[in-house]
Amino acid sequence: MGDDQATAGPAIAHGWRPARFLVIAAHPDDAEFGPAATAARWIDAGSVGRLVCCTSGDQGSDDADADPLDLAAVREAEQLAAAAIVGYQDVAFLHQPDGAVANDLALRELLVREIRSFRPDAVLTHDPEVLFYAGGGVNHTDHRTVGMAAVDAVYPAARNPMAFPALTRAGLPAHKVRRIYLFWPNAPDTWVDVTATFPRRLDALRCHASQLRHPERLEERMRTWGAEEGAPIGAAYGDAFRLVVIDEDEEDAPEAL
Ligand SMILES: [Zn+2]
Repeated sequence: MGDDQATAGPAIAHGWRPARFLVIAAHPDDAEFGPAATAARWIDAGSVGRLVCCTSGDQGSDDADADPLDLAAVREAEQLAAAAIVGYQDVAFLHQPDGAVANDLALRELLVREIRSFRPDAVLTHDPEVLFYAGGGVNHTDHRTVGMAAVDAVYPAARNPMAFPALTRAGLPAHKVRRIYLFWPNAPDTWVDVTATFPRRLDALRCHASQLRHPERLEERMRTWGAEEGAPIGAAYGDAFRLVVIDEDEEDAPEAL
């Protein structure tokens, strides 16, 4: 595992970087409240990133009379602006219903299509096992559901050529995602130093104007949170993940017998 994780004592900053990575998020703004600074850091170092947004956040308003389609259009525009700041190659909107995402075969096929098309080394998504946050609060049903759907799409569906054979026949052969980075975990085991790209994350977050009730408090809140996640590795700002390694790097693989 090399520099991936510390097993005892202070944690070591995470050093592995995927050449290609896919962020799979439930709502517009999740990727910016989530792993945007890590994404920006990896992109700056030469990685190619793509964002898949499963819903367009059409229930993200306190106004019961808001038009869901108008709101979705606003939020997609906000997400595209934020993604441009982070540096993603592009953004895919899967147009699942906000507040009602189901981890069904239809969504799995959509996600397998994204994975087999983009062929990422790593997928970053919501930790599906967090129902209640350790620090308080309930994790939104869409976050849990999208996290689980993304995990199910990565393993085994995307790598199994017999799963969704119509995709294979359409020119999208099986693909092995080697790692999953779960964001907003209750039990993080991996910390990325994002001190250099933390300001970009703030700029990207500010694009989500329709969602920021107290924009003046956003920076302080994010700086506190980012500093907490940097503390385990002694960084000014960090992103915390739970890392799932499915396939080891070749140099770490056991010798062939
Ligand atoms: Zn969300």
